[in-house]
Amino acid sequence: MKSAAADALVIFGASGDLAFRKIFPALQALFARRQIDLPVIGVARTALDRQAFARRVREAALAADPGADAAALARLEARLDFVAGDYGDPATYERLRIALVRSAHPLHYLAIPPSLFPAVIKGLEQSGAARGARIVVEKPFGRDLAGARALNRVLHGVFREREVFRIDHYLGKEAVQNLLYFRFANSFLEPVWNRIYIDNVQITLAENFGVGSRGHFYEEAGAIRDVIQNHLLQVLACLAMEPPTGSDDEAIRDEKARLLRAIEPLDSRNVVRGQYLGYRQEAGVAADSRVETFAAVRLSIANWRWAGVPFYLRAGKQLPLSATEVLVEFRGPPQAVFGEHHPGHGNYLRFRLSPEVVIAMGVQVKASGDTLMGETTELFATHQGSGAAGPYERLLLDAVRGDGGLFAREDEVDAAWRIVDPVLADHGPVYPYAAGSWGPEEANRFIQRNGGWHRTAGSGK
Ligand code: NDP
Repeated sequence: MKSAAADALVIFGASGDLAFRKIFPALQALFARRQIDLPVIGVARTALDRQAFARRVREAALAADPGADAAALARLEARLDFVAGDYGDPATYERLRIALVRSAHPLHYLAIPPSLFPAVIKGLEQSGAARGARIVVEKPFGRDLAGARALNRVLHGVFREREVFRIDHYLGKEAVQNLLYFRFANSFLEPVWNRIYIDNVQITLAENFGVGSRGHFYEEAGAIRDVIQNHLLQVLACLAMEPPTGSDDEAIRDEKARLLRAIEPLDSRNVVRGQYLGYRQEAGVAADSRVETFAAVRLSIANWRWAGVPFYLRAGKQLPLSATEVLVEFRGPPQAVFGEHHPGHGNYLRFRLSPEVVIAMGVQVKASGDTLMGETTELFATHQGSGAAGPYERLLLDAVRGDGGLFAREDEVDAAWRIVDPVLADHGPVYPYAAGSWGPEEANRFIQRNGGWHRTAGSGK
């Protein structure tokens, strides 16, 4: 259900990295397009004043876009305010309440470490700043199933579910929405979108860099918590869910949650973990760390449509390139009429989610020449650069407007944690791999029975 648009935005953690790199540039873009115009109040312990805060916002906007619209930046600056104070001190929230005196529906964005959520939520409640408000929370949403449930209890002590907006920025990506649209706006897919025609599905999230300065943070996470539990399972849900009964927020989220609930919880036989050589020497990383920087998992969906179809998800750092891609591979023809078999990947749908947006179909055609020999070619349904609004612009705008469809609902988050929970504590082997490789050899053996991983190409392919 849609609620009233927010009439003020409060950013907790306004001095932080996420605010600087993502939130402020998104705000500038939304002001430039005149999609929002509301007071923006930064909150942090760092003792900035209004002018210093405005300088920081300007710096962030220009760092992201040196050609940022100057008039829009001036309009944004005119709406900025800043409240300095400790998150545990009731006086901070009293000052915030005064800054919000004209606001009936503030939107509180918690861009702070999750350990601080309970203190801030309590402060908002006790000061009255939670009244009529909505709240945006960043990932990670808990560290495991029990942690996520505890966090939900804290949130629900003060906010109703429809007032809680859990960010998974993958859901704000143009490409993920395109995937959902392509599935349900084309009737030709439906008859083949099932276990009878589909052999396996692969989802790859590759990064060609290491943990950088975030080693300390990553030690608490690892690839399964960091991107598989949230981003990749959300992509999988969009790909495999049943058709929703309408386009409203709840209908789509109902189907995604149902799909996630049908996925069997992982066990160690269906997980391969890897760690890039050199990870243990990164700043903030333990010398004997067993945290995985690569993981490949094999999932089964216990429902009528997908029973028996393996879904392979892999994510890793220090891989050969940065890209996110989905490959849906169809079964081969029942007979090799032309006396040749293409080992895997002959017929497929490829959804490139980043850096560019591609939807392509891999088909076999006859190679020119005297013999009936085939080759794979791709039919492109769409191929777009990265010109669309970034995910933070879209998500921030939706949260301000009160549209919850692109945010993870409690039951989806719960179902996703339930899938990975059994392998979070089970630290099976962590295989080393060389930076610049596609992860440990074990990850290739793992998928051999389905013809191996599809080659994920660099940008522009
Ligand atoms: P930062 O470490 O930059 O922290 C944000 C702010 O929180 C800081 O500016 C600091 O503000 C305050 N803070 C940090 N630690 C403490 C503490 N122990 N006690 C009180 N205040 C503290 O975090 P990020 O901006 O990187 O991340 C914010 C949230 O967004 C986190 O939940 C993170 O997981 C999530 N996130 C971040 C991403 C990123 O790329 N940075 C990506 C995805 C999610 P001050 O000291 O001024 O009060």
